[in-house]
Amino acid sequence: MVYEEKLGSLIRIQTVSQQDEAYAENFNFFEIALTELFPAFFKATEDIGLEKVFLRVWQGLDKTLDPLVLMSHQDVVEASGNWTYPPFSGMIKDGYVWGRGALDNKGTLFSILEASDQLASQGFQPERTIYFLSGKNEEIGGEDARRAREWFISHSIHIYMTLDEGGAIIDDPLPGAHGRFAMIGLGEKSFANVRFIASGPGGHASTPSRHSPIAQLCSFVVECDRKKIFTASMNKVVKSMLKSLAPSMKGLKRIVFSSIGLTGPLVKAVMLKASPAASAMLRTTMAFTTAQGSSRANVIPQQAWVGANLRFSHHQGSRKSLEAVSAIAHKHGLEVKIDSQGIDSPIGDPDSKGFRIVEDACRKALGIKAVPYIQTGASDSRWLAGISDYTFRFAPLDMSEGLLKSVHGIDERVPISSLAKAVDFFKTIIGLVAESQMSK
Ligand SMILES: [Zn+2]
Repeated sequence: MVYEEKLGSLIRIQTVSQQDEAYAENFNFFEIALTELFPAFFKATEDIGLEKVFLRVWQGLDKTLDPLVLMSHQDVVEASGNWTYPPFSGMIKDGYVWGRGALDNKGTLFSILEASDQLASQGFQPERTIYFLSGKNEEIGGEDARRAREWFISHSIHIYMTLDEGGAIIDDPLPGAHGRFAMIGLGEKSFANVRFIASGPGGHASTPSRHSPIAQLCSFVVECDRKKIFTASMNKVVKSMLKSLAPSMKGLKRIVFSSIGLTGPLVKAVMLKASPAASAMLRTTMAFTTAQGSSRANVIPQQAWVGANLRFSHHQGSRKSLEAVSAIAHKHGLEVKIDSQGIDSPIGDPDSKGFRIVEDACRKALGIKAVPYIQTGASDSRWLAGISDYTFRFAPLDMSEGLLKSVHGIDERVPISSLAKAVDFFKTIIGLVAESQMSK
C-alpha cells in the first residue's frame, strides 16, 4: 500500500479524544489497523505492558546506552465547520491527504512507524534502545504521557533524546525572514488557568454602590492590559534562532539580528514589536478568556470573576510570574485561584550535540535548515523533558503555504510529497541516534 493510502486509512478511524467511552472502541480499531499496516514494526518491538498506553520498546544491542523516545499522539480534536471533503474521509486529492489528524499528529505517527517498519523488515537492529509512545489523550491533558513518565522513573530509565510534535516545516517563520525552514522546538512554555475573584455585598441593581465586584475586576483587567507585568528576556534559543534566520533577512534586520550580543536591547525591542508570536517567545503572556457575574440583569453579584490563561517564559517561570500578577490582583482586593497548571519543562541548548544531530537529519532528509525556537503551545513531551538529555519538538511535515492554520481548523491536510521525506527523516534520525548497524 502506498504512503497516502496508509495514512488515509488511519484518518478514517475517528480517534477523537474524549473522556467518555463513546470513542474507546475506535482506539481499539486504530491499534488493529496499525498492526496490519506495520507488521515488521510490531514484530521487532514489544509492548511494555502499561495498561491502555501505547508504549513499545525496540531493544537495542547495547544496554548501557540511554534510549531514544519517539512520540506522536493518535487522538485528534473534533472537526466542525465546512470542509472541502468530509473531515474523516481520508480523501486523497489534489496532491494532499485530507482529514482531521493529517498533520496533528497521524501524519507523524505514520512516518515514525513506516520508517521503523522498513528498517525492521531490512533486518536493522538498533544499538540504542528505542521507545515508541503514542498518547490517546494528548489533546485533553496527556494522561498517557504522564503515566509513561512515571514508568520511566520507576524503572530508573534516563532518556537520551525525546522527539515529539511541535515545530514543522514552514515558510517565513518571522516577519522579514524569507524562506522555508525546519522549526525545532527547544523549549515549550508551561501554562496555568487562573481565576481572579471579586466579592462584595451584592444587592438590587436599583440601588448600586461604588466598587462593585465587576468594577474591581475591570480596573484590574485594565491595569494588566496597560502595564508590562512580565519581564522580557532573550534566551539562548531565541538568540540562536535569530542568528540562523539573519541571512534570510534584508536591510536593517539582517544587520541587527546577525550581530546579537552587540545590539541586545535593540534586538529585544525589534522582537517585541515584530509580531505577537515573536513577542510571546520573550515573555510570560496572560490572556483573559472567561468571565462570570450575576445571572440576572437586575442583581448585583456578591461574587464575580475573570479567568486568564497564562503561558510562562522560562526566565520568569510559573512561580515568579504568578507572584507578579497576584500582587496586582491583591492590590485590587481580588482573590487568586489557580484552576489548573501544567509542569515547567527545561529549555534545550542549541549548541548541543543533540541539536547537531537533528540539524543533520533535516539537511539530509528534508534538504532544509533547522532553526531552534520556543514553542508557545504545549506538547506531550513536557512530561519527559525533565528526564531526557535532549528534547526536540518537531513534525517533519510540510506545513508551509498556510497549512499550519488547518491544524485544529478546517481542511487539515498534508501534501503527499511530504510523507516520503518525513519517513526518510525518521530513518535518518534512527540511524544517527541509535547508531545503526545493518545486519541480515
Ligand atoms: Zn498535536
